Amino acid sequence: MKLTHWTHRRLQRLFQRYNVKFWAGKLPQVKLVAADYSNDGGELGAYFPRALRIVIHAEGCATDRKVRDVLLHEMCHVAVGREAGHGPKFNDEVMRLYLKGAPLIVYEGTPDGRSFGYCTE
Ligand SMILES: [Zn+2]
Repeated sequence: MKLTHWTHRRLQRLFQRYNVKFWAGKLPQVKLVAADYSNDGGELGAYFPRALRIVIHAEGCATDRKVRDVLLHEMCHVAVGREAGHGPKFNDEVMRLYLKGAPLIVYEGTPDGRSFGYCTE
């Protein structure tokens, strides 16, 4: 499966759609930025709470599905707050989305048998 072109606008539209679908539109207005992957350290996504900004490096993702997975991961950070890190509160939120049918990628082989999303920090 090939990666299609991801623009700020497309990411922003997807953010709006997921916000309505999985958070009843309650997440704050976050600005989505499609960043140039080749220009930095290889992280696929990052959330900057003070700037209310999510940066996605779509070019670094192998598939469109992966872009969606990274976006949902960052949106979970928005939902639970940065101080929650990747702790239990964050994982509960990811699990909630998964059970609602969000297109998260599930990785096998972790100690609990499953883990979700891409760690960006
Ligand atoms: Zn993260």
